[in-house]
Amino acid sequence: MARVVQKFGGTSVADPEKILRAAKKAARRHAAGDQVVVVVSAMGKQTDTLVHLAQQITNSPSAREMDMLLSTGEQVSVSLFAMALQSMGHKAVSLTGGQVGIRTDSSHTKARIQSISTNHVSRILDGGAIVIAAGFQGYDSDGNITTLGRGGSDTTAVALAAVLNADCCEIYTDVDGIYTTDPRVHANAARLSTVSHDEMLELASLGAGVMHSRSIEFAKKFGVPIVVRSSFEDGPGTTIVPSQSSSQRAVSGVALARNEARITVEDVPDKPGASHQLFAELSSEGIAVDMIIQNAGSGGMADISFTVTDENLDSALRISTTVAESIEAAGVTHNADVAKVSIVGVGMVGAEGVAATLFQAISAAGINVHMITTSEIKISVLVDRVNAKKCVQAAHQAFNLDGFIDASSPSEEIATQKSDPLEVVRRLEGMEDLAIEDCQLDMSQALVTFFNLPNTPGVAADVFQAVGRAGLNVDMIVQSFPRNGRAEISFTIPESDRKQALDAVRNIASDLGANATDVPKVAKLSLTGIGIRSHAGVADKLFAPLADAGVNIDLISTSEVRVNVIVSAEHGTNSLRILRNAFELE
Ligand code: ADP
Ligand code: ASP
Ligand code: MG
Repeated sequence: MARVVQKFGGTSVADPEKILRAAKKAARRHAAGDQVVVVVSAMGKQTDTLVHLAQQITNSPSAREMDMLLSTGEQVSVSLFAMALQSMGHKAVSLTGGQVGIRTDSSHTKARIQSISTNHVSRILDGGAIVIAAGFQGYDSDGNITTLGRGGSDTTAVALAAVLNADCCEIYTDVDGIYTTDPRVHANAARLSTVSHDEMLELASLGAGVMHSRSIEFAKKFGVPIVVRSSFEDGPGTTIVPSQSSSQRAVSGVALARNEARITVEDVPDKPGASHQLFAELSSEGIAVDMIIQNAGSGGMADISFTVTDENLDSALRISTTVAESIEAAGVTHNADVAKVSIVGVGMVGAEGVAATLFQAISAAGINVHMITTSEIKISVLVDRVNAKKCVQAAHQAFNLDGFIDASSPSEEIATQKSDPLEVVRRLEGMEDLAIEDCQLDMSQALVTFFNLPNTPGVAADVFQAVGRAGLNVDMIVQSFPRNGRAEISFTIPESDRKQALDAVRNIASDLGANATDVPKVAKLSLTGIGIRSHAGVADKLFAPLADAGVNIDLISTSEVRVNVIVSAEHGTNSLRILRNAFELE
């Protein structure tokens, strides 16, 4: 007898007929002798309708009352789902998040799960009934109803599968699996047979709305096997696996985050502590920042740029303006019409020329890139929102993903998938807390910066093609937001390549009418864990102790599983100790 969790999204339970159809899937498993927990979303666009209703009453509804309102959507669908199963002769019991025992923190409308008690659900399952649990909701220590954030039913499902030690979590939705990019954005997107946890975490957190990224945090932390399938047709779907051993592809997918906004604080005094103050204030209001880039600056001043989502723009601007005044920066600029396009793939590690290929494709499409950040398994570019779709398509084609046939097979991988929770998870107070696993120091890199580059489409392509021709292996890449029509690109390379790099770098700079500098040895510190970008405050926790010790951060790049910072070589060992201490890794 297996234990499965099946989750049905809004479109899959949009009307009575679809509820009956979905219930049949649960009934089939139950009839085969399995224990079945079903997690359902609100019917169709019901949550949007409820949001709209609230907006008609007030522009600023309290978050607590929003949760009270939004949670009703799922209460409707679970009861109907249970009735559907009962009408087919199965025992079924519907439960709200509170009745299941999903305890969360009190951050209404974006609550994090702290614990789930399994007694009630297990008792019902052992009594032979199917449990229908409301997705997306929980309750806090004062008994208030909370919700997990839009799309949060995936997270309910995977978290339940984790605590119930389920054999599989099946996500039924309106697409038949995870695609190389959103099939609604690019019709030539292709279904993947398997995708790794790290890739899915990045894709989801960078905009692929098919899965709530926090659900993949649970999958990775607790080793939950997930299959994503269509609720309307039978098929193999996509299996989300711990690692992608069988795949040869460099890039697995392209993600689009359309609703991004860029903020730049200009002429920040280039000393430790300035960025800390900014990010501390932002995180204290729960604003998650991404694509944090500080340019190399001149005359003791640097610009700090970062992106936030549209909904956080107003508060982020207000905070940035206040902080800019207090640290005596020149001012704040912003752009609300940008989008972030990212390529993701564990196969990028070790593949040659990925950056050059991407920038070349974007340049050939005539699109200007405002900012670039990378991590080991992703490259993100910020472009004008009007160019977003074209940029996704250009990237998708450049990595031969149009009509891609994924030959990887999930069968042998899923067999080994169930694993013990990581040691670090056992130390967490709340299930969904940030899990930092390790901090490493790499002293083998040199830093190269091109400044005064023309801000025209294709400049990144030119730089990285030339770098590729010179046979250089680039690691971190950052392009800061252009100032006065001039762009700046920094990257790290192995220290051993530096001599060879310098000639190439000088030639490239003079060809492009730019200047170049290099730092022969820098220290790269990498924190690894789960949920790094989605937890507001990691940047702050990192900047604060380094600033207190007088250490300036030259470059930073973040992903869901890793944050890298570059500091000067003399501060390497010291910074490692400071960060290990700050993140309690001793
Ligand atoms: P549900 O209501 O079942 O949770 P969602 O609307 O949240 O469904 O997610 C499914 C949608 O996600 C698809 O219809 C698709 O447009 C979108 N999507 C975005 N990126 C991807 C991707 N990489 N693969 C598949 N679907 C994607
Ligand atoms: N009903 C919620 C929403 O629409 C949760 C979900 O569907 O996952 O965001
Ligand atoms: Mg969803």
